[in-house]
Amino acid sequence: MNDVIIVGAGFAGSVIACELAKIGKKVLVIEKREQIGGNMYEYRDTNGIPIHKYGPHIFHTNNEEVFKYLQNFAEFFKYEHRVLGKIDGELVPIPFNFTSLEKLFSKEKAITIKNKLLSKYDKDTKISILDLINDEDEVIKEFGQYVYEKVFIHYTAKQWEIPVEKVDSSVINRVPVMLGYDDRYFQDTYQYMPKNGFTEIFKNMLKSENITVELKQDAVNRIKIDIDSNKIFLDNKEFQGTLVYTGAIDEILGYKFGELPYRSINLVFEQYQSNEYQPVAVVNYPNEEKFTRITEFKHFYPMDKELREKNKTTILKEYPIMYNRKDPKNLTPYYVITNNDNIKRYEQYKNSVKDIKNLFFCGRLAEYKYYNMDTVIERALQVVKKIENNWEEK
Ligand code: FAD
Ligand code: UDP
Repeated sequence: MNDVIIVGAGFAGSVIACELAKIGKKVLVIEKREQIGGNMYEYRDTNGIPIHKYGPHIFHTNNEEVFKYLQNFAEFFKYEHRVLGKIDGELVPIPFNFTSLEKLFSKEKAITIKNKLLSKYDKDTKISILDLINDEDEVIKEFGQYVYEKVFIHYTAKQWEIPVEKVDSSVINRVPVMLGYDDRYFQDTYQYMPKNGFTEIFKNMLKSENITVELKQDAVNRIKIDIDSNKIFLDNKEFQGTLVYTGAIDEILGYKFGELPYRSINLVFEQYQSNEYQPVAVVNYPNEEKFTRITEFKHFYPMDKELREKNKTTILKEYPIMYNRKDPKNLTPYYVITNNDNIKRYEQYKNSVKDIKNLFFCGRLAEYKYYNMDTVIERALQVVKKIENNWEEK
């Protein structure tokens, strides 16, 4: 008899499964894919190149607890992610920084802009592009508009298929403008990658004998959440244990309040008989191309000499597309679309289950939030505490 059922074997589900198994609970994990790891799943392809099956993933956080926690499951190496963007034929650092400025402007113009920026803002700080385009200083504003046009407007139109002004500012502000020469994509204190790939973390999280993992099982066919009786059913029998759901909340509640929209990506992998395709792991294509970025996976393991020198490489092109659950291509819901209407709809779903005390939602799809993996791990650890408190109250 299982004490806990967890739907989804991504970070949300695996962290919770691991922690509850540790305190002796019997946990059943139901995962619809044929492998564990959720969107973090990593494998080696036919050329022996490590691949992130669901898009490029880099661990970065300011949360020391989360980083320490992850070290229980894998060995990590320091990896600072650097991204270049193809702008007017040049490869320049993204976030747009002073190197980008110097590559794309004449020497005199670059000096004028830098001086203006530094007369107003501190060196080596990150500024929102939205602040720059609204600056009252003409030079700063014009510079802001240039970067907005070359880096943000068209990339955002491709990624979200709506005009940039309609995209939530929290999304745009994930990528700032850097007032200095720091060319790292993230400035977080902890930036690491797992030495043997992400999948090992999940194997270790789920290896307890208290955990059973059932793959290729769609929870929608096995679980019913009845919001009239506040009961949960597994395989048509009432389940009185704890259910943790990490898939899409609208799906498991039968789209009762309408669909929550998601963006998906058409992921196109290409193999090449060559040593290197591009100089860094990720190159963004903000403008002409239909894809948003190209990832070359071997750069995620710079210390692996054999991989580096291999005369083969694999790249990934990302073509954003609207998620449509009825599409036969069966694309994945990757990105929540943050706006007031969608948040309201999500709240309706959340409120409808608030009286079901043995039900917990956690993760990017279940909470309809644009979470990075570190936040998902943090949330999962919080949910573990909530579940334990709930048991104590009984
Ligand atoms: P998921 O990893 O999506 O896991 C949910 C699991 O539930 C999946 O395995 C799914 O198959 C399963 N499931 C869903 N519904 C059902 C069902 N009905 N029945 C059974 N199983 C079900 N974060 C970073 O920190 N750094 C990055 O560089 C980064 N890059 C990203 C790039 C892309 C393209 C995307 C889309 C996300 C990126 N993220 C990144 C975010 C990161 O992927 C997520 O925060 C994290 O993986 C979410 O974990 P999760 O457990 O909530 O969801
Ligand atoms: N963005 C952009 N140009 C870029 C990179 C990002 O306009 O070169 C915008 C775009 O709207 C994107 C958002 O910033 O959706 C967040 O980018 P991030 O790289 O964080 O996206 P993710 O890695 O989550 O896909």
